[in-house]
Amino acid sequence: MSVAYTSDVLIVGAGVGGLSLAIRLARKGWQVRILQEQVSVPPRRRPEIIQPAGLQALDELGLFAHLYKQDVTRVETFHFRRIGGRPLCRVDYRALNHPYPYALIALPQQSRRAFLDGLQDHPGVQIHWGACLTGVLRRGYRIVGAKAIENGEEREFRAPVTIGADGSASRLRAMAGITTHVKRYPNAFVGMLVTCPDSMKVDQTVHYDLGRGEILGCFPCSKSQLCLLFMVPADRAQERDGPLLKSLKDRIAAIRPELAEPVSAVVGWDQVSWQAPVRVRLGTWVIDGAAFMGDAAHACHPHVAQGSFQAMEDARVLADALQDPRTGAENFSARRLKLYEQFRRPIVERLQCVADEYAWLWETKNLFLSYMRDRIFRSIGRQPALLYKVAATEAGIAPSPLTFMERLQALGLCA
Ligand SMILES: Cc1cc2nc3c(=O)[nH]c(=O)nc-3n(C[C@H](O)[C@H](O)[C@H](O)COP(=O)(O)OP(=O)(O)OC[C@H]3O[C@@H](n4cnc5c(N)ncnc54)[C@H](O)[C@@H]3O)c2cc1C
Repeated sequence: MSVAYTSDVLIVGAGVGGLSLAIRLARKGWQVRILQEQVSVPPRRRPEIIQPAGLQALDELGLFAHLYKQDVTRVETFHFRRIGGRPLCRVDYRALNHPYPYALIALPQQSRRAFLDGLQDHPGVQIHWGACLTGVLRRGYRIVGAKAIENGEEREFRAPVTIGADGSASRLRAMAGITTHVKRYPNAFVGMLVTCPDSMKVDQTVHYDLGRGEILGCFPCSKSQLCLLFMVPADRAQERDGPLLKSLKDRIAAIRPELAEPVSAVVGWDQVSWQAPVRVRLGTWVIDGAAFMGDAAHACHPHVAQGSFQAMEDARVLADALQDPRTGAENFSARRLKLYEQFRRPIVERLQCVADEYAWLWETKNLFLSYMRDRIFRSIGRQPALLYKVAATEAGIAPSPLTFMERLQALGLCA
C-alpha cells in the first residue's frame, strides 16, 4: 500500500503563485504541502520584470527585502525605439503616484529564491521536491488530493482542497478534466545573458527596439549583465541544429552594434533559452475540492510582463476565499470557490486582451501596420494622460485597454 500524507491544502507547483499562496495560508495557521516536480530549479536566461504592483505584493508577503538584497536591477524608464531610426516613446514609472515608482529586473530563479528564503519563517509549509504527479484522488466527483511518485515510490497526498499552480502546461488541470483552450502565438523569444557593454551601464533603463516583425529587448538584470530577448518565428524552433544562432547574433549586432562583442560569447544553444508564449483560458477555474491559479488558470502573453504579479494576486484573493478546513468540506465546493474565480477572471481576461493587442501591433510584419504602430507610440509619448494610462496598465496598478476615444487620440485623429 502507498504511503499517505495529509495536510489542510495541497498545492501542485512551487512557482510564484503556489509559493505566495503557501505563505498566505501558513500565516493563517494552515498545514501546507507543495508538490514540485523538479528537484531543483534550473536557471532561466530571461528577465522577469517585477512591476510596481508586484513589488507592493512582495512587500505584503514580507519578501521585498529578500529580493532586493540579491543582484537585481531597479529601472524607472522604458525606452522604445524604431530599429535604425528615431526614438518612439519613453514610459517613465516616476510619473506614477505609487509607493514603488519603479520596477525590478530579476532572473526567475532570483524571485523564486526570495520566496524560498521567506518560507523559512513558515515551518507549516513542506515542499516535496522531485514529486512527480501521477493522478488525482477523488471521492465521488470531489477531488480529495493527488498521487505522486516521490523517491521512486507512489504516495498519496490527501487534503480537503487541492490547488493547481503548476504552470501553463498544468498536468493537474488535464487530470482533473478541465476544458482548456491554449492559444499559441506565431513568435517565440530567445533569451541570452551577456556582459553589459559600458555604454549601456550608465542608464538603468529597459530598451525595446521595434522593427517590421522584429523586437529586441535589452534588460539590465544585474550590475554587470544584460538579458536580451529577441523575437523569432516560433516555427524556426526546428532549425536550432543549423546556423540559426549565428544569424540571430548577427542580426542583434546589426540592430545594436554595441552588443556585437557581448553576443559573440554566446556559442551554443545551452547558453540560450527558447520561450514560446501561450495564452490559457479554462472552462472553469474551480471544481469541487480544487481550484487553479496563475499560469495554470490564465497564462498571458508576456508583453504586459505581469504574470508573476497576477499569480500573486490570485493567491491573495484565493487565500481570503478559502475557509477554515476544519469547518467542513462544503467550504471547498465549486459553488464556494467560484467567488474567487468571479473576482479574478474578469481582471485577467481584460489583461489577456491588452496583451493580445500588444502582441498583434508590436510584432507586426505589415508595412502599413508597423507605420501605424510607430505613429501610435510617438503620439502616446506626446500625450501625458495617455502615457499615464499605458504606464499604469504596464505597472499593474490599473490595467485596462484604451477606450475608443483614447484610441483615436493615440492615432492622432483627435485631441
Ligand atoms: C518569455 C517570457 C517572459 C516573461 N516575462 C515576465 C515578466 O517580465 N514579468 C512577469 O511578471 N512575468 C513574466 N512572464 C510570465 C511569468 O513567468 C509567469 O506568468 C509566472 O511565472 C507564473 O507563475 P506560476 O506560479 O503560475 O507558474 P510557474 O512559474 O510556471 O510555476 C509552476 C511550477 O509548477 C511546477 N510544475 C509543473 N508541472 C508540475 C507537476 N506536474 N507537478 C509538480 N510541479 C509541477 C514547475 O516546475 C514550476 O515550478 C514571462 C513569461 C515568458 C514565457
